[in-house]
Amino acid sequence: MPAIAYIDTSAFDHNLQRVKALAPHSSVLAMIKANAYGHGILRAAKALAAADGFGVARTGEALVLRNHGFTKPIAIMAGFLDAEELRAMAEYDLIPAIHTEQQLKLLFETPLEKPISVWLKMDTGMHRLGFDHNAISPAYRALLENPKIRKDITVFTHFAESDELSSPKSRQQLTLFQQTIHWPGPKSLANSAAIIAWQDSHADWVRPGIMLYGVSPFTQQVAADYDLKPVMTLSSTLIAVHHLKRGDAIGYGSTFVCPEDMPIGVAAIGYGDGYPRHAPNGTPVLVDHVLCQLAGRVSMDLITIDLRPHPHATFGSEVVLWGRGLPVETVAKCAGTIAYELLCHVTSRVKFIEIND
Ligand SMILES: *Cc1c(COP(=O)(O)O)cnc(C)c1O
Repeated sequence: MPAIAYIDTSAFDHNLQRVKALAPHSSVLAMIKANAYGHGILRAAKALAAADGFGVARTGEALVLRNHGFTKPIAIMAGFLDAEELRAMAEYDLIPAIHTEQQLKLLFETPLEKPISVWLKMDTGMHRLGFDHNAISPAYRALLENPKIRKDITVFTHFAESDELSSPKSRQQLTLFQQTIHWPGPKSLANSAAIIAWQDSHADWVRPGIMLYGVSPFTQQVAADYDLKPVMTLSSTLIAVHHLKRGDAIGYGSTFVCPEDMPIGVAAIGYGDGYPRHAPNGTPVLVDHVLCQLAGRVSMDLITIDLRPHPHATFGSEVVLWGRGLPVETVAKCAGTIAYELLCHVTSRVKFIEIND
């Protein structure tokens, strides 16, 4: 009995409609990098058919989409590394992000069979990728004058702290962007957090990622606070139930010792499936929809569960690790990480089943 990730394709569309309601005047670039945050890039692209385009990080991800017949615009956030990658992008009508002088040089040196669209990235304070406020206008002009480049150059930037509602950084980044980019033409700034919290950052394209998967971008709120529905529900099954005595220790390192006589369930899921090994005693799990807690260390194939809240659980009872009824945000917080990471880390051993309700 493998662990199962149920993917609710109707939740994808629901969440996309939420993006459109929040940013009604913007086009939507649905971010489906990293195998659609672990959900499966092809099923995500199919379920998100109402998006105006897709965003990925790597060329390989975009080629998977093109090879499966997806014809919408696809922007590649890391851009290209060499002439060969650039030519592939032109051939497949992909849109590279241009974020550094070396890419401009490659773009000007490399013969292309047809013109290419580009997104031009400005660094407004995150200091990861992009041209700074002095270099962005010359880069834009150079692109504009080059016949190989289509004229619909979208200028974009990325927020460093948009999930921190009290931080002044997003305001500073937005102001710098607006002061620097004084020419007409498409612009893009907002990720999920900014779509929800920074309306004046919406511009021509919004770039939602995590909210499309039904997850809150803010650590203090869960998705239901914004009427977002979880797309992935990770589940497994109890494959043993034990009635242990007070003082019995459970699992590697004996990190949980029964404080009284109690039932312990063993579920067929572990870090080999992508469940976080650092989830401590007390991390919530649902057993037959009843809220229970981890008891003992997470191992590769198994977890152990304190069944005192649900003493009737048996061999075959359903266990939900996150998703419907248990926000992945909550589990991530317990495990000292973020929902993005948990979703990306679900392994190929897990069986993916699409549902629609
Ligand atoms: C991943 C990504 C996004 C989406 O961010 P979320 O926080 O998941 O909404 C937006 N823009 C860029 C450039 C990204 O890399």
